[in-house]
Amino acid sequence: MHNTYTLTSKTYIDLDQPEIYQRFMQEYLELLRSKLQQYKIMDQNGDLREIRYSCGQDHDPRNPNWKPFQYLEQICRKYGYDDMEARDVIEDQIGRRLVCECLLFDG
Ligand SMILES: [Zn+2]
Repeated sequence: MHNTYTLTSKTYIDLDQPEIYQRFMQEYLELLRSKLQQYKIMDQNGDLREIRYSCGQDHDPRNPNWKPFQYLEQICRKYGYDDMEARDVIEDQIGRRLVCECLLFDG
């Protein structure tokens, strides 16, 4: 079995490589798109302008139904990554802090 230190290193070592990070994010975003609630935003002509995603929960720590990074945890488990560290790397890459993974699609 790996110890925590090895797992911790693996997250940074792997995700520090652009190809691995890109592949990881592609799979993660695909998972989110398939799981999150989708809202289609139409323009005045009824054409699709953009698709927004939401976890459907209030982003409030007191909300017991709110699971901010459940799909990140799921995908990290698959690869043996530490989800807090993966979140760190993602926030670094996109240049902002995330309260919830559904906000990855904003901006
Ligand atoms: Zn959310």
